[in-house]
Amino acid sequence: MDGGLRPMDAEQLREHAHKMVDFIADYYKSIENFPVLSQVEPGYLRGILPDSAPNHPESLEDIFNDVRAKILPGVTHWQSPNFFAYYPSNSSIAGFLGEMLSAGLNIVGFSWITSPAATELEMTVLDWLAKLLKLPDDFLSAGEGGGVIQGTASEAVLVVLLAARDKILRRVGKNALEKLVVYASDQTHSALQKACQIGGIHPENCRLLKTDSSINYALSPDVLGEAIAHDISNGLIPFFLCATVGTTSSTAVDPLLLLAKIAKSNGMWFHVDAAYAGSACICPEYRHHIDGVEEADSFNMNAHKWFLTNFDCSALWVKDRNALVQSLSTNPEFLKNKASQANMVVDYKDWQIPLGRRFRSLKLWMVLRLYGIENLQCYIRNHINLAKHFEGLVAQDPRFEVVTPRIFSLVCFRLLSSQNNEDHGNKLNHDLLDVVNSMGKIFISHTVLSGKYILRFAVGAPLTEERHVTAAWKVLQEEASTLLGSL
Ligand code: PLP
Repeated sequence: MDGGLRPMDAEQLREHAHKMVDFIADYYKSIENFPVLSQVEPGYLRGILPDSAPNHPESLEDIFNDVRAKILPGVTHWQSPNFFAYYPSNSSIAGFLGEMLSAGLNIVGFSWITSPAATELEMTVLDWLAKLLKLPDDFLSAGEGGGVIQGTASEAVLVVLLAARDKILRRVGKNALEKLVVYASDQTHSALQKACQIGGIHPENCRLLKTDSSINYALSPDVLGEAIAHDISNGLIPFFLCATVGTTSSTAVDPLLLLAKIAKSNGMWFHVDAAYAGSACICPEYRHHIDGVEEADSFNMNAHKWFLTNFDCSALWVKDRNALVQSLSTNPEFLKNKASQANMVVDYKDWQIPLGRRFRSLKLWMVLRLYGIENLQCYIRNHINLAKHFEGLVAQDPRFEVVTPRIFSLVCFRLLSSQNNEDHGNKLNHDLLDVVNSMGKIFISHTVLSGKYILRFAVGAPLTEERHVTAAWKVLQEEASTLLGSL
């Protein structure tokens, strides 16, 4: 029976996909016309979409009309040149084309045999990126280690935490789980805490060590050493240290070399989270921020943040891939095949949580090939220069202060309270954030450091130019004047 549906008819694909590309190109052309931060109220969509799916097909035109009228108002435009919130999540033509090709081939590459090219391209491209970052050879696929694309930095830290946990439990006995202790700074992304929750690490054994402004919110090796000594004297087992290069709040850089020494002398797994700032380390002048990665057991950077690779693409390297495989592999009958059984291939299903996986390396391959290293370095430098420009503008206005030193493309700043009062200062900055974001011209985000409410201005959207940064500062200045004037 012919149901009439031809879901992958090549000519219909051509026609519809061309229309979709036109739609997306037009979106990018007019992206500055939308409020950057969606201004809808919670539940806005429920009232304007039907209660159930249609019985009969609808036209692509009708769907585009609904996207324009109903979906785009509920979109926060991450690719807008006026998006300065959180950290960026880059798209690019290369990344988009890779994503398209991946969707087109639509393979599920969990084992080598399910698409040898998917596994082998991933290994190759991650070796390329490792070399570009000057990671130690131990992270390359030719030896005992190698790279793998995870969906997110959260999955990356989870899989290495599980590998480290099982490695230590094999040594000290599986009943010791409740004695295992994890260390990181209080600036570490909450992804680590989630990994501990999933990994069965007792919540009271997660040491998020205090940082402060005197060391720019980096983890102090002395504080770490003391915490470890204290735990050992109480019969606990330190097993995992997570350092960050470019913390989420303020781009703090933990001192990898010193921390690595401590981790090593205590037999701990050392993970480096460079989710955002890792991209900057492709430039020789920023590479020193990951000096010490030579001593790490694992290293992670999100190519989907600041490396022009459309979400999702989080690159993780490990020195001992066996540790991952020992924790995460399964070998059911229905997946057995000659290449896997003979141990001749990498089966990435054993390096990650899910079984199924997309052909994500195509995106990274396209980015590296269509742009080339020099252009990618210029791209990073340009954003850092734009952030310097913004920092300079803030520094010239005595009503504001730059709160932490700018290291990459994030500026942490705040409006000063004329009343020299912390609560008042916090409210002032909270109000400033609210008012600028509700105007829709720009979108910035915030954090709290040492009890102070801080504004974050992160440059990194692919379309951002100097004029956008200058205009954003003008919006902030004008709204600050209004707020201060109304006091
Ligand atoms: N680590 C750092 C330093 C981050 O800045 C972020 C997100 O911004 C993450 C981890 C979590 O990233 P993901 O969403 O890829 O899990």
